[in-house]
Amino acid sequence: MISRASEAPQSKSRIDLAELDLREMEAALAARGEQPFHARQIYRWVYRRGVTDISQMTDLSRATRGKLEGEFEVSTPRVRSEQLSADGTRKFVLELADGRQVESVFIPDTPAMTFCISTQVGCAMKCGFCLTGKMGLVRNLTAGEIAGQVRVLAGELGLRDSKFNIVLMGMGEPLHNYDNTMKALRILNDEHGFAMSPKRITLSTVGVLPALDRLATEPVMPNLAISLHATTEDQRDALVPVNRKYGLEDIIAAARRFPARRRNRITFEYVLLRGVNDTTEDARRLVRLLGNIRCKVNLIPLNEAAGINYERPSEDRINTFARILSDAGLTVSVRKSRGRDIRAACGQLIVEGTTKSTGQKAAALL
Ligand code: SAH
Repeated sequence: MISRASEAPQSKSRIDLAELDLREMEAALAARGEQPFHARQIYRWVYRRGVTDISQMTDLSRATRGKLEGEFEVSTPRVRSEQLSADGTRKFVLELADGRQVESVFIPDTPAMTFCISTQVGCAMKCGFCLTGKMGLVRNLTAGEIAGQVRVLAGELGLRDSKFNIVLMGMGEPLHNYDNTMKALRILNDEHGFAMSPKRITLSTVGVLPALDRLATEPVMPNLAISLHATTEDQRDALVPVNRKYGLEDIIAAARRFPARRRNRITFEYVLLRGVNDTTEDARRLVRLLGNIRCKVNLIPLNEAAGINYERPSEDRINTFARILSDAGLTVSVRKSRGRDIRAACGQLIVEGTTKSTGQKAAALL
């Protein structure tokens, strides 16, 4: 592991340009008597070239730079440590302005390059097999912190000019932090910045229903992955506690009405837990549930961890389960576990103790 010393904290009084989408940045400049088009220049510096120091944005006049520096800053998560897995996966621990930490993961060949990004510090969903859930929710990430992870990884890995995919499958439940997540996607999509196509972005959700329906109306709409994990209400109640509020049947109905023309097929994620949801009956029920939805199924054999009281099924069982689905005509993939040796795999991201924050108290009300 490589540890890095922290730099001096940034001033709190200036407006953080990393939190602004292009329109907001134009408005902020105009409100200070500056030309709104400077926002496009700033976007190019920050997202395309990785320059966050306003004094170095040399296509702005010296006078403009001087003035902007007094009013604005661009904050960026700091890399606290970086770990490299034997399989090439890299895990970054990033520190935010308030000292909280999140993890972001780079997966090199899936077959594209993929950044796995967090949307919250911790998570309120408490899925029984997920380590992040054990932390509870500490706080939501801001839009700038979500997009900032992409900036940091692209810079650290020298991939600013390369094509990569983003999966919102790090710490947190993206639809439980809806506005900030969608704003981050707008920032990443902006043609003057990363110009990320939403087709290269996958949002994975446990199925927070009102937000799922709202997502169906978004202009920048990512691919959708729904964490199903069970085939009966009782079974899902036990594994994914939020199912008691937004149940399996309702989630399937929401998936069915999700606008088909505007997206690729929905992916249903299904974590395989030995003796819990991996039986032949489970597989058959899954076939019936998903019967006439245009979808793909992504089986995720459990990544085991201390503190998680479930086991990964045998390879035989995993293959049998997958075969039942594919024989019934479903498109199935089995997710390879990446970065397990550095605890970077699905459900293994955890960075904090369990002190109760305001966010955690709020999560208790969910
Ligand atoms: N909150 C989002 C993103 C979670 S991480 C969601 O629920 O979809 C992405 C996937 O990894 C989810 O399907 C999640 O349920 C799964 N996962 C969590 N813990 C896991 C573990 N220990 N082993 C395998 N997959 C896990």
